[in-house]
Amino acid sequence: MECFHCLQPVPRGVNLSVEYKGSEKPVCCAGCQAVAETIIEHRLHAYYEHRDISQLQETPVLPDELNDLNLYDHPDLQKEFVRHEGDGTEVATLTIENITCGACGWLIERELMRLKGIHKAIVNVTSRRLQVSWSPEELKLSNILRALAGIGYKALPFQANEAEQQYARQRKSYIKRLGVAGIATMQVMMIAFGLYFGVVSDLSPDLQRFLWGVSLVFATPVILYSAQPF
Ligand SMILES: [Zn+2]
Ligand SMILES: [Zn+2]
Repeated sequence: MECFHCLQPVPRGVNLSVEYKGSEKPVCCAGCQAVAETIIEHRLHAYYEHRDISQLQETPVLPDELNDLNLYDHPDLQKEFVRHEGDGTEVATLTIENITCGACGWLIERELMRLKGIHKAIVNVTSRRLQVSWSPEELKLSNILRALAGIGYKALPFQANEAEQQYARQRKSYIKRLGVAGIATMQVMMIAFGLYFGVVSDLSPDLQRFLWGVSLVFATPVILYSAQPF
């Protein structure tokens, strides 16, 4: 027996169901039951007829996780990924982990448009992104995330992920620059030691000029490459 909502096998001993078109359909857990009931109650059951069942759903968000969603209302966190528009609305791009097909996109857009204060909800199924805009006086971001969780989708701020990746890339490039600076500076110093101590008198002026030239060659990448971001 498989779960009406997530299509996973219903564990033995679990005896939960939802009513769908006049008959009882088995579900695997309280999470799937809540999600299926919300979808049916909100008259979005067309989702079940149009979804791509070759793609398995992930287990929906459990109620415990929903408490943490209030964190996303904090201004410090929001300034990373929420944009304030001139007309007073706020815009955010969210990544939704478990979008599997066009019916998911349809379901998400419909469910969000039910909320008072939502201006726009556009899902890109391929990139699993949701672009959403809302009036902050009427609605909080956590309300949006909670509505998504209610129909079984887990959303994360997209910009925060992106910023993290960018930070990692930037840090790598800094380390590379520092590495070049370290190696090249060592070469310059070794040549300088040779020029200052002992050997100077033994060197012909031509060789001295050559060594100065070499140290210039090593110093140039330090200045041009490593010092570039400073
Ligand atoms: Zn299930
Ligand atoms: Zn789907």
